[in-house]
Amino acid sequence: GATINASSIDSLSAHFPLCMRNLHMTLRKSNHLKHFGRLQYTLFLKGLGLTMEDCLIFWRQSFKLITDETFNKEYRYNIRHSYGDVGGDAVRRGRGYSPFSCQKILTEHPPGSGESHGCPYRHFSVDNLTSLLQVTGVNDRDVLRGVKEDVDKKRFHIACNRVFEWAHKPEIRQVKDDGTWKTADLDTIVHPNTYFKRSYLLKR
Ligand code: SF4
Repeated sequence: GATINASSIDSLSAHFPLCMRNLHMTLRKSNHLKHFGRLQYTLFLKGLGLTMEDCLIFWRQSFKLITDETFNKEYRYNIRHSYGDVGGDAVRRGRGYSPFSCQKILTEHPPGSGESHGCPYRHFSVDNLTSLLQVTGVNDRDVLRGVKEDVDKKRFHIACNRVFEWAHKPEIRQVKDDGTWKTADLDTIVHPNTYFKRSYLLKR
């Protein structure tokens, strides 16, 4: 099984969908993320199986430019809240919030300037999207052209799946051929955590 802890997130991020890759890279570059970015990313990490304690360590270490005092005062509570460790809502208490689906990320709280949450396929200009894809190793011209067409038709998660399929081509062929994965296992991905899970299982 995977070791999922605060120090394995950097290497695991190779399996993240573009929305979470973008958050992770922005976090590493600027040592900070704004509120909705932290929320979207925290819930995704929770969905990976990162414990609350490790999630707190992860954020504390990632916010390199602030003191423990500031961290404890301004950020700790919201992370605990995401995990259901604090907060008034009895139903959510103990469970916290669910990781966001693509649908939710695509339709709620579009990012404003300086924010990095959302879905790059939906919220980035085509030029920025193409650069981001290239930075993450997607440089196949046909794939990039296909993504552009998907995005033009507003088929954002189809674009995401196109990239997934390209990035995992040999592994997908393998699990199809040997029957380890049923057709249902290869259905279109509509959740960032499913993207991770499949990518991780395929590359193992
Ligand atoms: Fe993330 Fe979903 Fe957008 Fe893919 S389609 S980048 S998983 S929000």
